[in-house]
Amino acid sequence: MYHKPKAKSSEEIEREYKSKKSYFGLPFEVKFCKKCIISNQRPVSEILYKNNIKTQKKTIRIHDDGICDACKFNEKKRKDINWEKREKELIDLCNKHRGNGNDYDCIVPGSGGKDSFFVAHMLKYKYNMNPLTITWAPHMYTETGRKNMENWSNAGFDNYLVTPNRKIQRLLTRLAIDNLFNPFQPFVFGQKFLAPKIALKLGIKLIFYGENAAEYGNDSAEGELPTMNIDYFSTNKIEEDKTFIGGVSIRELKEKFGLKHIDLLNYLPINKDQLTQSDVEVYYFGYFKKWHQQSNYYYAVKHGGFVTNPERMPGTYTKYTSCDDKMEDFNYYTLGIKFGLGWTSNIASFEIRDGDLTREEGVALAKKYDLEFPKRFLEDLFKYLTIGKEEYPIAHKMFEEPEFNYEYFMNLHDRFRSPHLWKKTVNNEWQLRNTVWDDAKKSNTLTDKQELNAMKWEGNLGDKV
Ligand SMILES: [Zn+2]
Repeated sequence: MYHKPKAKSSEEIEREYKSKKSYFGLPFEVKFCKKCIISNQRPVSEILYKNNIKTQKKTIRIHDDGICDACKFNEKKRKDINWEKREKELIDLCNKHRGNGNDYDCIVPGSGGKDSFFVAHMLKYKYNMNPLTITWAPHMYTETGRKNMENWSNAGFDNYLVTPNRKIQRLLTRLAIDNLFNPFQPFVFGQKFLAPKIALKLGIKLIFYGENAAEYGNDSAEGELPTMNIDYFSTNKIEEDKTFIGGVSIRELKEKFGLKHIDLLNYLPINKDQLTQSDVEVYYFGYFKKWHQQSNYYYAVKHGGFVTNPERMPGTYTKYTSCDDKMEDFNYYTLGIKFGLGWTSNIASFEIRDGDLTREEGVALAKKYDLEFPKRFLEDLFKYLTIGKEEYPIAHKMFEEPEFNYEYFMNLHDRFRSPHLWKKTVNNEWQLRNTVWDDAKKSNTLTDKQELNAMKWEGNLGDKV
């Protein structure tokens, strides 16, 4: 039975803090990278289907010189890599797989956002490939997302759109948010497993994803590899007690929530032997071409009429990234609660590394927007996550409160606020113990004037969109 969450008191959290407790295995001492604004609390990629409530997270490494792995990788990307040589490798790879024009020769998964648009368009028009684009539908489309999907096929691409059974997806998403405070986890499974599954079915041997995971701070040794680790999406054996979706084992989903195997098909990893025998290869396009999010954006505007969100998205200062799913706002917001790093901290760190933003601007923008409450799609979220009796005759019994509402959501936060990150103020409001803006003030790297300027600033694409 899933109990109704309760608000946590100041005493409880202080008691846990004194015993040096941190949730999810996060490092107790918070450190910020000196170059970007990410902290050592940011988790790196992992094999998600093994994750349950007890999983301890591996987080981004900050080296002795105060610089994080993602910044180290970026430095290398800008200075040390021979991009001409890498392009030759790409051409060789394309030559090996390019068909005679009678069929698709590669797959580009994506949502028609700036990055997948860029990859597919380059492959088709610069490298003369015949890509099939495939999409795992968002939870809830935004208008912007729909328009960009249209723009993608208008730019000359066939697209296979896979829309999952929403009843199943809603239940799994509810479990993922109750257990892990991660509304995107089941979606990511569906998305990650889709491309290799379609490749196997259609006999296509080449898949291109966008940026390498090292861009986010995975071990930079991973950035040296053009291919994705196949353990992320395949396994030799699915053990029902050791494979989890939304923090719940497959066995429990079947026995207690009334789900059948076919309900879970989209969310289960692929058979590894089948994959290796079929010679399907999964590459990062970002290995071959210098990855720069803003350039991808301008490219997608120029070649595909890519549209941005009409307004700034809550939690960030931008309008051009992650704008196709109403769930994105909540996803980034939950990262802010769990790791103290919201949407702004994540996107600004990218832009700082790429030289599009100064660190001072990033710090001030994080102060302004990072933990902003995502109000705009709240009603949609509540409806999506409510497990009603009629729709879910078995599963609804597993929830003390099947309805997902404002009170439920707010109290649920407290389960995931780690005592080493959060405290309560005298006014009974939650506050982060360590922030990059306090840190910057203390070390005199952010002056009042810089802060004031950045607080007035509306974002680096403000006039151009
Ligand atoms: Zn960094």
